[in-house]
Amino acid sequence: MARIIAIANQKGGVGKTTTAVNLSSALAREGARVLLVDIDPQGNASSGLGIVERNHLSTIYDVLIRGLPVFRAVHRRAAANLEVVPANRDLVGAELELVGVRDRETILREALAPVAQDYAFVLIDCPPSLGLLTLNALSAADSLIVPIQCEYYALEGLAQLMNTVGLVRRGLNPGLNVEGVLLTMYDRRLNLSREIAFEAKKYFDVFQTVIPRNVSVAEAPSFGKPVLDYDPASTGSRRYAALARELNARAKASPPQAERQA
Ligand code: ATP
Ligand code: MG
Repeated sequence: MARIIAIANQKGGVGKTTTAVNLSSALAREGARVLLVDIDPQGNASSGLGIVERNHLSTIYDVLIRGLPVFRAVHRRAAANLEVVPANRDLVGAELELVGVRDRETILREALAPVAQDYAFVLIDCPPSLGLLTLNALSAADSLIVPIQCEYYALEGLAQLMNTVGLVRRGLNPGLNVEGVLLTMYDRRLNLSREIAFEAKKYFDVFQTVIPRNVSVAEAPSFGKPVLDYDPASTGSRRYAALARELNARAKASPPQAERQA
């Protein structure tokens, strides 16, 4: 049974997609079967894995709005062990299209249920908002990773995110767990990075692994590759590999709910 992890923060540009792509790739390299689900209309995770926009591309939009089974929207090109359900601009209208739909917050959860047993991890790359798409991710997820960029105002908005998590726990998904806050674009030479790390640790579980700012990480998406394929020796690759190991160790220590109940 897959561990389903949403990567969310309503703040833009904090490293959600970068983490979704590279953590997926690192977990896959460790031997886990991984499905990355892109639910951001920007489609950055999809293009970052080399999915090229074309006519009749099956996407998460078809799954959420047209009831297409997930397995028919899975693209297997990415790499051994790493598959992706892409997103594109079609998804822009989805939040509105779903307004009148019954159980609109749990469509993704229902859609993923039949394929969850095929993967060790399902990662969901969320858009920068707390709208219906992110709610669908939080309803479907066992846990949540919250990337924060080590800059001013990094922690701003986290209270609102945790508030939403609390609401989801009380209603749609009582088992939702906050896996942790991930410090991204960290620069250890800067006091600011250290201060943000200190503050974050006061309030949240913070991953021991920290992701530094790294040129290869920034360049890799323009080649449609995770950094681990683009520049395996880079610091960025090594850190995402370390994050995958940290997550694997946690996953072993506390298996997903469904497995605990089984
Ligand atoms: P959005 O909210 O728009 O979806 P996001 O949270 O998904 O954004 P990313 O797209 O992952 O954020 O990252 C924002 C920008 O920062 C991108 O240009 C990305 O290449 C760059 N970036 C992310 N992490 C790193 C890193 N560790 N080193 C260097 N650049 C990075
Ligand atoms: Mg993104």
